[in-house]
Amino acid sequence: MANKKIEPTVTVIGAGLAGTEATTQLIRRSIPVRLIEMRPNKTTGAHTTDQFAELVCSNSVGSNLPDRASGLLKEELRFLNSYFIDTAYKYRVPAGNALAVDRNAFSREITRYLKTHSLVEFHNEECVEIPKDGIVILATGPLTSPALLEAIAKRIGSKQLEFYDAVAPIVKASSINMEIAFKSDRYGETGKGDYINCPMNKEEYENFVHELLAAERIDLSDMEKNAKKQFFSACQPVEIIAESGENSLRFGPLKPVGLTDPRTGRRPWAAVQLRQDDLLGSLYNMVGFQTNLKHGEQKRVFSMIPGLENAEFVRLGQMHRNSYINAPSVLKPTMQFKEDPNLFFAGQLSGVEGYTESAMSGLVAGINAARIIQGKEPLVFPPQTMIGCLLNYITYEGHKDFHPMNINFGIFDSIENEKSEVRKERIIKAARRAFREFISKI
Ligand SMILES: Cc1cc2nc3c(=O)[nH]c(=O)nc-3n(C[C@H](O)[C@H](O)[C@H](O)COP(=O)(O)OP(=O)(O)OC[C@H]3O[C@@H](n4cnc5c(N)ncnc54)[C@H](O)[C@@H]3O)c2cc1C
Repeated sequence: MANKKIEPTVTVIGAGLAGTEATTQLIRRSIPVRLIEMRPNKTTGAHTTDQFAELVCSNSVGSNLPDRASGLLKEELRFLNSYFIDTAYKYRVPAGNALAVDRNAFSREITRYLKTHSLVEFHNEECVEIPKDGIVILATGPLTSPALLEAIAKRIGSKQLEFYDAVAPIVKASSINMEIAFKSDRYGETGKGDYINCPMNKEEYENFVHELLAAERIDLSDMEKNAKKQFFSACQPVEIIAESGENSLRFGPLKPVGLTDPRTGRRPWAAVQLRQDDLLGSLYNMVGFQTNLKHGEQKRVFSMIPGLENAEFVRLGQMHRNSYINAPSVLKPTMQFKEDPNLFFAGQLSGVEGYTESAMSGLVAGINAARIIQGKEPLVFPPQTMIGCLLNYITYEGHKDFHPMNINFGIFDSIENEKSEVRKERIIKAARRAFREFISKI
């Protein structure tokens, strides 16, 4: 079913973070778009709403600090009028130095804007073939439907790669026992106490780890074998982290540094942090608690966490397939398919990783699709900038074993014997200078 308006010149497939950003960049340049999204008629297994730009797991879109790679990427995106970034700031919730959003308000606004826009012709259906006519932006994400994945594999002639990822549970704030849990951010960084912390003593921690390891997992035997090899270290399920040593959680997502338990006046042995998930502050997500435990087991084991003994879980953790193309062999840093300048890839499917990075790639694909229509050369961002460096990285042909990548200072050039603080300072200065010069030229 489509709401037909003006004959579209670009087809965007997938109304996720990349697809909605690409669409916005196009319509702001007066280019009509056919936007195809399959939800809610067909779901992905991780998305739970019928809204565009749904944040499937964490409600944080990363650091907001100007001296962090993610913060600098946001700075560049803001400058380029990213709709994703503007909407994220509009629906920001407290989260220390991170930019976290009320996920429902955020997605509702993007959905309303695009569904009612006179230049957007919306089709609520699964796309199973890559359209042959006109310019196409494929932004169907890590959970692209199998039929379309098959069509993509045929078109790009490249082997599909896969890895696995996991989402964290969300609990009702009113069900957290605040006589035990306490509000604070690490080292009192913002002074506002943005996080709820559930402190554990040594015995509570050891019992928790013991039960976590013994708990039943969803049977994914083959998948899990792959996953163990291919997980992103930042997104490992808690039970997998716990397997690597009894203190691994305490040095990972349950680290207690910078926290003082007001009941004891001391740093706890370990602490589970929960971050606000909606503007009202009625929901909190368990930070770093991606998991693949069976649902009943999650309730049983996570209720052992002091403060969560009566927690009401509004969403439980899950584990999912993630798909992406082999960008180094098929993609240009303009986001165009090497063999067809009218076919663009964007979002996690294109080989970037993360919400902000996906929106960024959608922005570049949208701007470049518009430039082709306007008879201009597509933009290639300088490799010194955050955008340019990440797109350069994912399209670098020398990768031996390519996996999606998020923005970080590690992917920038190094100079031998350079101290890490000096290196960071150099990268930041060069990025800002290169971005300014690039923007002034276009
Ligand atoms: C389970 C999971 C948890 C994640 N958690 C985080 C996190 O906490 N933080 C983070 O930064 N990143 C996370 N990511 C990674 C990534 O940032 C997100 O997946 C992000 O949403 C990717 O944006 P995207 O636009 O590429 O895809 P999506 O936002 O998934 O959008 C793709 C859209 O395409 C639609 N679609 C798929 N196939 C078709 C088809 N054939 N026809 C029509 N429509 C179709 C989908 O329904 C979806 O709406 C997670 C990924 C997964 C899978």
